[in-house]
Amino acid sequence: MDLNFTPEEEAFRGEVLQFLRDKLPERLSNKVKNGLRLTREDMAEWHAILNERGWLANHWPSQYGGPGWGAVQKFIFENECALAGAPRIVPFGVNMLGPVLIKYGSEAQKQYWLPRILNGEDWWCQGYSEPGSGSDLASVKTTAVRDGDHYIVNGQKTWTTLGHHANMIFCLVRTNKEAKAQAGISFLLVDMDSPGVEVRPIITLDGEHEVNEVFFTDVRVPAANLVGEQDKGWTYAKYLLTYERTNIAGVGFSVAALEKLKRIAAKVQRNGRPLTEDPLFAARLAKVEIDLENMKTTNLRVIAAVAGGGVPGAESSMLKIRGTEIRQELSSLACRAMGPYAQPFIEAALHEGYDEPPVGPAEAAPLASQYFNNRKLSIFGGSNEIQKNIISKMILGL
Ligand SMILES: Cc1cc2nc3c(=O)[nH]c(=O)nc-3n(C[C@H](O)[C@H](O)[C@H](O)COP(=O)(O)OP(=O)(O)OC[C@H]3O[C@@H](n4cnc5c(N)ncnc54)[C@H](O)[C@@H]3O)c2cc1C
Repeated sequence: MDLNFTPEEEAFRGEVLQFLRDKLPERLSNKVKNGLRLTREDMAEWHAILNERGWLANHWPSQYGGPGWGAVQKFIFENECALAGAPRIVPFGVNMLGPVLIKYGSEAQKQYWLPRILNGEDWWCQGYSEPGSGSDLASVKTTAVRDGDHYIVNGQKTWTTLGHHANMIFCLVRTNKEAKAQAGISFLLVDMDSPGVEVRPIITLDGEHEVNEVFFTDVRVPAANLVGEQDKGWTYAKYLLTYERTNIAGVGFSVAALEKLKRIAAKVQRNGRPLTEDPLFAARLAKVEIDLENMKTTNLRVIAAVAGGGVPGAESSMLKIRGTEIRQELSSLACRAMGPYAQPFIEAALHEGYDEPPVGPAEAAPLASQYFNNRKLSIFGGSNEIQKNIISKMILGL
């Protein structure tokens, strides 16, 4: 089996590298490489640059604005972007809602919403989880009651990532209380500027405002914003989650983090030799690298299935577990490499313009915050325990 890229694929890599050299703003890549927080404007800037080149929604069919790439091209693109320090695309519109609309939306919905995702006119967030309905997502209690050509929505969503930047939210709502839990859910698109929508921040342990609570009080939503059929939303919700989980795995992100970790570890001296020669550290480094190499293959398999007209399926759960374990291990190893310098939690060091002289190597300043922030990886998009349940049912047939 030849695992090398073909000359055409290498030429494509060259094209991507040239694009990144020409178009990726150094200010953005410096922020990403140094682990600084990105503003809404930063994320929107990169979104617009990719869209201008036609490379934003690279897994969408070309008729809706995708570039028509195969699996290997997407793989190369993701890796090179991560290595160059490109910001990750905000996933809610492009990677989550887009595929759902393309598969289940009406023609009118595709024509209206898809171009607005691409041009950034709409910033989407995800209204799935509720207090008490996280792992047990089918128990969502937010209701949508039909009233003429509108739905009236009441309830609460929580952990809504970047909801404070969004103007639109896709929601799972209960439209039938009599049916079995999964059978009474619908998938509704809600304008966050509607009267009755209130967003309240949740500030996490690392001082970050990333997640929110969203409250709905008698919010009127046009019935035209229902995706697919009423009470069939669970099917669409699960389909979206496979894309979310594949995206969380973040292979490209881990490739870049591993490269950075190796650079740091080679510079750090422990007992008179580089840390990379410390047997315990080297063993953990080797294990995580092997795991990552294996995951790249699974990732390619999933991308190839999707490019061939399939859906990510239960492999997305495998990718989510492995990918997040790898990302967490990489951040633990980075902290270990920096030793006590990684301990202080310096919130200000996560913002552009922080110029206090570093205590220890400059790479150490954001590590504590990144370590805390990465704890979320094994929880969101469905916790890793839940992914194991899915694998045991769908792959092992238990
Ligand atoms: C940073 C962050 C961002 C998020 N962003 C969003 C977002 O944008 N939109 C959104 O809708 N949601 C979002 N979430 C919510 C996320 O999807 C849920 O937190 C997740 O599904 C877990 O649900 P829960 O928090 O209610 O935990 P619970 O469901 O209460 O689970 C608690 C623990 O019990 C375990 N557990 C529960 N049931 C089982 C079971 N059957 N078998 C084995 N173990 C089980 C879980 O694995 C977990 O360890 C986000 C969460 C975080 C932390």
